[in-house]
Amino acid sequence: MAKADFYETLGVSRGATDKDLKSAFRRLAMKFHPDKNPDDADAERRFKEVNEAYETLKDPQKRAAYDQFGHAAFEGGGGGGFNGGFGGGGGGFSDIFEDIFGEMMGGGRQRRSSGGRERGGDLRYNMEISLEEAFTGKTAQIRVPTSIQCDECSGSGAKPGSSPTSCATCGGSGRVRASQGFFSVERTCPTCHGRGETISDPCQKCSGQGRVTEERSLSVNIPAGIEDGTRIRLAGEGEAGLRSGPAGDLYIFLSVKPHQFFQRDGADLYCNVPVSMTTAALGGQFDVVTLDGAKTRVKVPEGTQTGRQFRLKSKGMPVLRSSQMGDLYIQISIETPQKLTRRQRELLEEFESISSHENNPESHGFFSKMRHFFDTLSD
Ligand SMILES: [Zn+2]
Ligand SMILES: [Zn+2]
Repeated sequence: MAKADFYETLGVSRGATDKDLKSAFRRLAMKFHPDKNPDDADAERRFKEVNEAYETLKDPQKRAAYDQFGHAAFEGGGGGGFNGGFGGGGGGFSDIFEDIFGEMMGGGRQRRSSGGRERGGDLRYNMEISLEEAFTGKTAQIRVPTSIQCDECSGSGAKPGSSPTSCATCGGSGRVRASQGFFSVERTCPTCHGRGETISDPCQKCSGQGRVTEERSLSVNIPAGIEDGTRIRLAGEGEAGLRSGPAGDLYIFLSVKPHQFFQRDGADLYCNVPVSMTTAALGGQFDVVTLDGAKTRVKVPEGTQTGRQFRLKSKGMPVLRSSQMGDLYIQISIETPQKLTRRQRELLEEFESISSHENNPESHGFFSKMRHFFDTLSD
């Protein structure tokens, strides 16, 4: 008997959205549910068809395969990969129960797919790079211990030459039904733990898990301008799925080490430069080496004060995924001379004796204002 078209079964158009599919499915599944139609073979058949159609069309990959190849996409060996238990023999009752009743009862849906396939876990890898590396960007080689699909059994978990058999307890659905008064309750099959199949002769290399742990070498592209705290996602590079399920993702958690000279704020850099008191007073210059390896000369004008900033345009960090550059700010702090010799002391005392208010307007002004403030308080 030719199989009915999945879209026709659900009574939706080929352009139906996920929402259309879901509401059509719910309506029909409720209508044909065996609990509502006891001993009605026709309803049971329709119920299975509706379930099978929805199982296929709700999965974007399966839907695409179906749109392209029709039912042939899922028949033995054809279409590649989608051979897990839908269509035929008892399968399918479980998911519908979860779909309708799981949600109605507020229960969280289990992430279970046909044939016990399970998506692999996501992996986290912490990577620390220098500011110089964040400046230039780099390709990093990392070694990640991860589970990958067992090559001995191609991920099936069964010893080569044998294959998993459909679970006798649940008939391959992974769920068993039991009646409790008016209700029919479903639970995970205790024999196969929801996998729907049992492995009588497990693969020795992976002990039936279908995956083994191995260290893989990956190259990760770190773009120039990347910031501390960035997460890089490498889709499908996480742990292999269980029994040919899809792989998880690998997340690189990136941190940038603090730098000896430069503090970073987005694409701008700040550099604190101590300058001697005499240079600050008399004027002078110094060279700063920037992250691109070039030297830039900074002129210190006569009478420069602590906290003064000089902006070196486009000498900061690259802006991520652009050709723009941030700026570098040079912040001056004046260093007071220490451990004076007798001669130095004499010279400074002499300097002090001939100094006027105009040499130190800030400090002079500050103390005269402070005195005035004290006078107003004591009046
Ligand atoms: Zn194996
Ligand atoms: Zn079972």
